[in-house]
Amino acid sequence: MAKQVGECTMWCWHDRNGFSRIINVSGTMTGLGSSVTAQSVCDAMCDATQCFVNMHELQARASDTIAQLTGAEAGFLTASAGAGISLSIAGCMTGLSPARVEFLPTRPGVKSEVVIQLGHLCGYGAPIETAIALTGATTRPVGQSTLTMDHQLEGALCERTAAALYVVSHHVVHYGQMPLDRFAGICRNAGVPVIVDAASEYDLKGFLKAGADIAIYSAHKFLGGPTGGIVAGSRGLVHAAYLQNMGIGRGMKIGKESIAGAIAAMEDWLIRDHDAIRQEEEEALALWQAAILDIPGIQANIVPDPTDNPLSRLQVNVDPALAGTTAAAFSRALAQQDPAILVRSHEVELGYFQLDPCNLLPEQAQIVADTLQYVLRAGPEITELSGDLERARNGGVDGYLSWPGGG
Ligand SMILES: *Cc1c(COP(=O)(O)O)cnc(C)c1O
Repeated sequence: MAKQVGECTMWCWHDRNGFSRIINVSGTMTGLGSSVTAQSVCDAMCDATQCFVNMHELQARASDTIAQLTGAEAGFLTASAGAGISLSIAGCMTGLSPARVEFLPTRPGVKSEVVIQLGHLCGYGAPIETAIALTGATTRPVGQSTLTMDHQLEGALCERTAAALYVVSHHVVHYGQMPLDRFAGICRNAGVPVIVDAASEYDLKGFLKAGADIAIYSAHKFLGGPTGGIVAGSRGLVHAAYLQNMGIGRGMKIGKESIAGAIAAMEDWLIRDHDAIRQEEEEALALWQAAILDIPGIQANIVPDPTDNPLSRLQVNVDPALAGTTAAAFSRALAQQDPAILVRSHEVELGYFQLDPCNLLPEQAQIVADTLQYVLRAGPEITELSGDLERARNGGVDGYLSWPGGG
């Protein structure tokens, strides 16, 4: 039985189209439409849709903005960060040769290996290995899942190495991995370019400063832009990656409206009141924590972001013996409310879920607090335990398999 909460104005678009009402407290998720953009971003996109433009000029303007934002020499926009990874690797393989661009992915040439720490071979909705394979390169993992030593990286770098890929993310193994400055130093000694996947990081300058040749960001995550990928780095490598639009990049095309929107989002980021936003997020966390303070078996703590983004989350630990149900069952029950409260549940098998405040829309914090209190108080009365962990683990696939029959 769903509890009816919420105001019409917030849900007009959903109701008119018959879409499920959802409140996103899970983070920035492709499956939830990534980002909600500021009005300035909408305006920039709308203007662009109504004009023709020389796309190289538009991308050159994007390059200036990306340079200002990241400290890089140059940059461009593509369909997504995932696309940016493929294009950057391909650029390291082809250089500025249009002929070699057309050879990919079937004739990759001698430089056709991408070195990556085994603990960085993550997924973000798709395996990162797929982003490498799309270029025609092969993945060369180094180290073991929870440990990379210097000699292992040194030993893997050779005349076949096209690039070394480094991932900064909560998706990767959190200990035993080589720090970026060390990784980049070893690669620099071997003349191998370093590409950093920093898709979901606030730090827009630090990875290039630490020695990366290219850093890749999502335009649609913290930046709040339209869906897109930002490739930033040294002029020659960025240019070589840009050339891939004549080859494997064609299927990763970004439109003029998204480039214009991403430029506006980057400009907005430079003048945004980051402290005020953080303050609002902290207030939401305190509200939610207070709402579930005295519920048996529930212990809620505010925790920092694992990769040091300036962001905290509320971690709700569930003791099944006292609560009568599990963290996985609670997170599922929250998703069955109306509006659905979609929490961060990729670690539910450890006995908790998290609430991420960074995508809240006005007036949603209170709805989350009320619904959270209702569901956690109701406990086993409204949760269903069977197969909860398997469902949580395999959940990302269900929506694809059951489409278009409703998720
Ligand atoms: C989100 C994410 C990606 C994918 O980004 P898209 O722009 O959605 O393609 C890649 N790597 C990491 C670490 C991510 O968090």
